[in-house]
Amino acid sequence: MHRVTFIPGDGIGPDVANAARKVVDATGVKIEWEEKIAGEPAIEKYNTPLPDDTLESIKRNKVALKGPITTPIGGGYRSVNVLLRQLLNLYACVRPARSIPGTNTPFQNIDLIVVRENTEDVYAGVEFPPNSAEARKIIELCNGKVREDSAITLKPISFYASERIVRFAFQYAIEHNRKKVTCVTKANIMKFTDGLFLEAARKVAQEFPQIEFEERLVDNMAMQLVQKPHLYDVLVMPNLYGDILSDLCAGLIGGLGVAPGANIGDEAAVFEPVHGSAPKYKGMNKVNPTATILSAAMMLDYLGEKVAAEKIERAVRMVISEGKWVTYDLGGNATTTEMTDAIIDKLAE
Ligand code: NAD
Repeated sequence: MHRVTFIPGDGIGPDVANAARKVVDATGVKIEWEEKIAGEPAIEKYNTPLPDDTLESIKRNKVALKGPITTPIGGGYRSVNVLLRQLLNLYACVRPARSIPGTNTPFQNIDLIVVRENTEDVYAGVEFPPNSAEARKIIELCNGKVREDSAITLKPISFYASERIVRFAFQYAIEHNRKKVTCVTKANIMKFTDGLFLEAARKVAQEFPQIEFEERLVDNMAMQLVQKPHLYDVLVMPNLYGDILSDLCAGLIGGLGVAPGANIGDEAAVFEPVHGSAPKYKGMNKVNPTATILSAAMMLDYLGEKVAAEKIERAVRMVISEGKWVTYDLGGNATTTEMTDAIIDKLAE
């Protein structure tokens, strides 16, 4: 029996998270779900998007399955998703992009893993508005290189966190039978921050001579992922580039509806789709549950339930390649529930 914290989230979160939970239960793996709220329902009930009770539950159970949570743009509260990664030290974001026959994409046989550093970079949340005392102090240090009316966001990158994420990527490569790790930075321009990340990567690569190592600049990487995605295997990079390139990789395999993800640390792991809460589809039972169902399969794999994880992946592939019970984004008109039930039916085959 495993105990897992279950967070439906908001927007389309409850639709896709409940679908994934139903599929996991149908595999027969015994899970005791501890349901907790975060995001909009938590603001309504407790006036905070991340109640302590929810955080404590993840700390206690060490594993969570989570639906997406809305983050207000511009003002408002900070991202609950980013906060969770920071508070639980979920330093590795793992986003596999594997083609599923039947999805609407000109790219075939894609098999990439994006490993994104999850705790630093411009996501650290160190920002100063224009004309604040802090912004003025930093601008002063810039010797006329920065305009006086600028806002400032800091980009901290440490050797410690860079080494840790690159080691995670190499270990992941070994455990999952992968051949190559590519480090992605913009070290030609950000010589100190991205330069440090690259330096850490070169050092760690020497510990893993059995895995090929190469380096790419992020702009070139974006182009190459579109032109020659088959040249790549495991990609490791700082936070912001990982955010952007993992959506690009989701695009290669047919969109956000089929892109799963995991946030992993030494003490806890939170599994969630790459996509967000798509508020315009809230409560419509319309969106694709695949990304969250595959995230749940990653969770089962993490819990050691490898047979059940593989069973789910196979069932998802069968339903999508048959194309009968698929949602709008895959060219069908099945509801979230209908697609989920079709996947459950295939588990037995
Ligand atoms: P989004 O991923 O929510 O949606 C973008 C578009 O992608 C949708 O309009 C829809 O067309 C499509 N889409 C997304 N998920 C789909 C699915 N399962 N099936 C079919 N189509 C799907 O991105 P957004 O609109 O930029 O963000 C909405 C909110 O989600 C924002 O508040 C954002 O901050 C938040 N967000 C949360 C997370 C998270 O919880 N980890 C991640 C990303 C964005």
